[in-house]
Amino acid sequence: MSIIRDAAAIAKGMTITLKEAFQPTEVENYPDGKGPMRGAQFQQRFRGKHQLQRDENGLEKCVACFLCAAACPSNCIYIEAAENTEETRISSAERYAKVYNIDYNRCIFCGYCVEACPTDAITHGHGFELASLNATSLVMRKQDLLVQVKTLPDNVQSNKDMAESLA
Ligand code: SF4
Ligand code: SF4
Repeated sequence: MSIIRDAAAIAKGMTITLKEAFQPTEVENYPDGKGPMRGAQFQQRFRGKHQLQRDENGLEKCVACFLCAAACPSNCIYIEAAENTEETRISSAERYAKVYNIDYNRCIFCGYCVEACPTDAITHGHGFELASLNATSLVMRKQDLLVQVKTLPDNVQSNKDMAESLA
């Protein structure tokens, strides 16, 4: 009886295997696909490399409050704050992050920093190619994380307009 039972179990397993063998392939074509993602696809909720956001005027949203660093369980966010001045305005508040580093050797992508931020300055992007044999290159600096100026108001036509908008 046990032989019959085992044979039935194998037949059942092979039926499932053969059925799946003729289903369409779900494997992504990464890294040989087209486009900037090279074939990779993500769910919207995927937590990749962080992005430091700008407001509608192109100013940095980060106001150097240190709440993200305090919330980080891996202690991998390093911030140095500085004051905005009349001549140089980086954020819309009193302070901005002169230095903002995230050490991806230690980040566990828990998202606590994103949740803690009162100004929505830090978000997760979809950057995922973070593997490196050089640990130093995994310490990302502000310039690696800050989004490009691309959401300036419609009336910005020139560098002078941009300077006024950012002032
Ligand atoms: S995702 Fe988590 S571990 Fe990574 S920097 Fe944010 S709080 Fe720290
Ligand atoms: S990213 Fe957000 S929480 Fe972190 S220092 Fe800047 S404003 Fe504060």
